[in-house]
Amino acid sequence: MRPSSPRAAGTDEYLMLIGGVWSAGTDGGWIEVEDPARRRPAGRVPRGGAEDVAHAVRSAATAFPAWRGENPAYRGHALLRIADDVEAETERLARLLSTETGNAIRRQTRPEVIGAARLFRYFGGVAGEAKGETVPLGDGLLNYTIREPLGVVGGIIPWNAPVQLASVKIAMALATGNTLVLKAAEDAPLAVLELARICARHLPPGVLNVVTGYGEEAGAALLAHPDVAKLSFTGSTEVGRIVMRAAADRIVPVSLELGGKSPAVVFPDADTDAVAAGVVDGMRFTRQGQSCTAGSRLLVHESIFDSFLDRVVTAISRLRMGDPLDEGSDIGTVINPVQYGRIRGYIESGVADGGRLLTGEIPQTSSPDRGLFVSPAVFTRVQPSWRIVREEIFGPVLVALPWRDEAEAVRMANDTHYGLAAYVWGRDLGRALRTAHSIDAGWVQVNRGLGQLPGISYGGIGRSGIGREFSWEGALDGFTHRKTVTVDTRM
Ligand code: NAD
Repeated sequence: MRPSSPRAAGTDEYLMLIGGVWSAGTDGGWIEVEDPARRRPAGRVPRGGAEDVAHAVRSAATAFPAWRGENPAYRGHALLRIADDVEAETERLARLLSTETGNAIRRQTRPEVIGAARLFRYFGGVAGEAKGETVPLGDGLLNYTIREPLGVVGGIIPWNAPVQLASVKIAMALATGNTLVLKAAEDAPLAVLELARICARHLPPGVLNVVTGYGEEAGAALLAHPDVAKLSFTGSTEVGRIVMRAAADRIVPVSLELGGKSPAVVFPDADTDAVAAGVVDGMRFTRQGQSCTAGSRLLVHESIFDSFLDRVVTAISRLRMGDPLDEGSDIGTVINPVQYGRIRGYIESGVADGGRLLTGEIPQTSSPDRGLFVSPAVFTRVQPSWRIVREEIFGPVLVALPWRDEAEAVRMANDTHYGLAAYVWGRDLGRALRTAHSIDAGWVQVNRGLGQLPGISYGGIGRSGIGREFSWEGALDGFTHRKTVTVDTRM
């Protein structure tokens, strides 16, 4: 009988899903997953390697012909049932997710799980819409196109919003008729494995496989596997380059959802508390700034610079930092000691360079044993060339710079190699839209600071990546190819 749970009975060991079976991995090694708020073990997962990945790819390849041949509406129906079950288990998943990531349950992990159910529902609903086209070529010729799945997709995700990112990859790959091998992040694999348990209930064995392990081991093996037909990666720009090189070696399509250093431009007519709260939302302080879309460069018109920053500091002061599982907490912990040390280093460098901390502080110790808490930090008096202004920190650090006119604001917004997200705040909508159209980014929000919604095409340009996710158009472009059939009807 197939065990129905990734968690081995009576232990804190979670297993991988390979070919519909929960598996401990071939070499017997384990990775400890830490609860970063309590600094104690949250569970452990197999240290998967090349052999496990090969097994998972074989299982996905075996499952592919039947899954691809299914009526797309049937595939969609499976995703709809997954959506219902994810929703029914929201609390359990959200608690586990808070435990392994340190993200606060009320502000981040519960909404993340609810959002994941919505993603499955959206892609389940549109799965039957993989329509082709007919091309008129005159009498005697019929030309039409079919959207074909690519085969076995290799997906790799980071730790910052693992259930959301796993869900979008699973739903997009499966709705379009592919099978998937997904590698979870080593820091946050537990809720993803529980999500896999729910998915497996509604899927034939091998359609979805989830492996755990280190990037340089399981991840690299997935990138290099000759039977993986497409690489779909979400993570850092640095590793994105490795993924793209691996795709180039085998000439397979690749999508990359990478980092960002996104601008938030505030016009003089937006000096309000509501906009300040929106900027704080956009900076994702309630995920400790660990978001690729974080609006981490705040560009404010000089006439309102001081008053607006006062409002931002007041909005931040209302956020409560504490136990991620406490309903009263708005802010939890950062993910691991390495990330904690990196963020601390950035705050130190900003202070050393002469920046002014309006709120926040340099974390006292380099390795706290109580919980990896970092207070939100806001810097002014910074220079555009500084590291804290140019580099993605992936932590709760906002830098603010003044500008004089619209052209300068646009120039500053575009002064980055990234191009993922941007935010424009202003009541004069003509001006706000003109600015939105001038900013080089994949996703610009005007007077809104919240996250992605199912159906919007999300992704970056420049060093923020290639491809679009969250939308049906993105799924068709990224997970299918267009086959053309030309028929001479006179024969
Ligand atoms: P990371 O790139 O270090 O790791 C991401 C994943 O890649 C992990 O599963 C890791 O195990 C794997 N990996 C690492 N080295 C690998 C290798 N050599 N071969 C194959 N796989 C490898 O990123 P992270 O620190 O986990 O996440 C933070 C980064 O992710 C930030 O840069 C952030 O902006 C980005 N991110 C982007 C999006 C987006 O949608 N654009 C969303 C979330 C996070």
